[in-house]
Amino acid sequence: IDFKSDKQPTWCPGCGDFGTMNGMMKALANTGNDPDNTFVVAGIGCSGKIGTYMHSYALHGVHGRALPVGTGVKIANPELEVMVAGGDGDGYSIGAGHFVHAVRRNVDMTYIVMDNRIYGLTKGQFSPTSREDFETSTSPDGTNQQPINPLALALASGGTFIAQSFSSDSQRHAEIVQEAIEHDGFGFVNVYSPCVTFNDVDTYDYFRDTIVDVGDEDFEHDRTDYDAAKELILDRNKEYQGVIYQNESSVGYEKREGVEAPMTEIPEGAPEDAMDLVREFY
Ligand code: SF4
Repeated sequence: IDFKSDKQPTWCPGCGDFGTMNGMMKALANTGNDPDNTFVVAGIGCSGKIGTYMHSYALHGVHGRALPVGTGVKIANPELEVMVAGGDGDGYSIGAGHFVHAVRRNVDMTYIVMDNRIYGLTKGQFSPTSREDFETSTSPDGTNQQPINPLALALASGGTFIAQSFSSDSQRHAEIVQEAIEHDGFGFVNVYSPCVTFNDVDTYDYFRDTIVDVGDEDFEHDRTDYDAAKELILDRNKEYQGVIYQNESSVGYEKREGVEAPMTEIPEGAPEDAMDLVREFY
């Protein structure tokens, strides 16, 4: 199944977003999805272009607002496979409030954050995940602020599937995204997706040398153990990949008792053509 559109990506050669997107497409195909039932919602930033490069239904949301749009799509049509994608600036800065509420609401969709620890599209300003000593055009002496810990934020918000992957480790990245899709609830994957143009610190080599895979045979980790997950997540000295935490009894919000989805219906007597309906309102 080909999830690739005929549009040529304008990402810089070598950008981590290529690997991130390839893994997403592979995971969607492996889970039996096809472009007709897949809806990709993107935020703003280099990562935000992904909806154009993938062959599926897609919507380019405004900055930081991709998650509420994705929530609306899923609630309106629970049959769709909804995948929301954005960057660290989009998701953890202007979109941080939406992130917390999407996590706790636990709608059955997948959220991929292409975390390159820099604002790439606007040419290299520090982002919420940039290191404290990272010198950029807007932090000539370092940011002097602690980077946000996205996995900790997700865990504290009641996350039911919290994972991390590395775009260059294509096989593992695709497997982890696949598990996020299969999870019943909000599947969150923070993807290390290096920006080769503006970030010379969090590079491919850096991640290759430091990443510890919690799924390795010789690494003992029980993903259902909340305290074990907390310990890994709060360890800022290591970069982990794999499924860090999963609540296996999670049920997506839209399937819960008392929640009626789809929540939107075309009112009785409304024109059948959806565009006519839209024109009536505007
Ligand atoms: Fe990728 Fe950075 Fe280029 Fe944006 S600026 S496309 S994040 S390498």
